[in-house]
Amino acid sequence: MCQEKLKKHLLCRLFCKMNQIKPRPAVILIAVIFCYLEAAAQHTEKSVTGSIVIDIGHGGQDTGVSLSGGIYEKNIALNLARRLEDELFQKEYKVKLTRTRDVGLEMADRTAVSNNRKADVFISLHIGGNFTHQPETVSIFYFDKKSESLSESADDKSRSQALLWDEIQYQHQSESRGLAKLIQKSLQSRIKFAEIRVRGAPILIARGADMPAVLIEIGSLCHPEQKKALQSRQGLSDLAKGISSGIEAFLQKAPTH
Ligand SMILES: [Zn+2]
Repeated sequence: MCQEKLKKHLLCRLFCKMNQIKPRPAVILIAVIFCYLEAAAQHTEKSVTGSIVIDIGHGGQDTGVSLSGGIYEKNIALNLARRLEDELFQKEYKVKLTRTRDVGLEMADRTAVSNNRKADVFISLHIGGNFTHQPETVSIFYFDKKSESLSESADDKSRSQALLWDEIQYQHQSESRGLAKLIQKSLQSRIKFAEIRVRGAPILIARGADMPAVLIEIGSLCHPEQKKALQSRQGLSDLAKGISSGIEAFLQKAPTH
């Protein structure tokens, strides 16, 4: 007799003994419900909770990389985001997309969504593109203000505002780098079409995010093999699984809000 059946049997016997009655359907039903409730409670204890905001690059008039035939970065990024959303939902995370259709968004609004929801992780998705036709990389950027040189023409007010916002993400720099490395590790086992690199850079989108944040720029739409992968179900699914597993590994290590 399996453990679950044995448990139901023993509970049933216990109810019968207590009531000094023969097993009746109602008693069995109570025992079964009890077992299911206990199993559900155990499942809840085991599940990892966390919330993720997925930012989808570009939108509306801003197409991002564009190729002939109506192939736009903004649309492929949205397709990938939906796959990633599905993967994360299956892992029982809360997920919010910064856009679910083809609309333009201000830079500040993208991180504001994440800050207002007190998300645990902010991921911005972009697809690269250049016309060298050389093998490209998947670059996972975290914010590194050290490599930033503020414009000499910036006035004192804009300089101080930039530094203020820098400090918000800078507090999460080490976690953001850790998140980037875990996504890199996870993607490396699934993606063969490109090298995967982690890089520090003064990425504007992450600047105002008050949580670990990375920007993932995937390959190049101008590279034939990568273009094919990015337009295929399987290619997007592999990327989504890789990114979601990296996020999961990060959240299992890091305390959530
Ligand atoms: Zn982009």
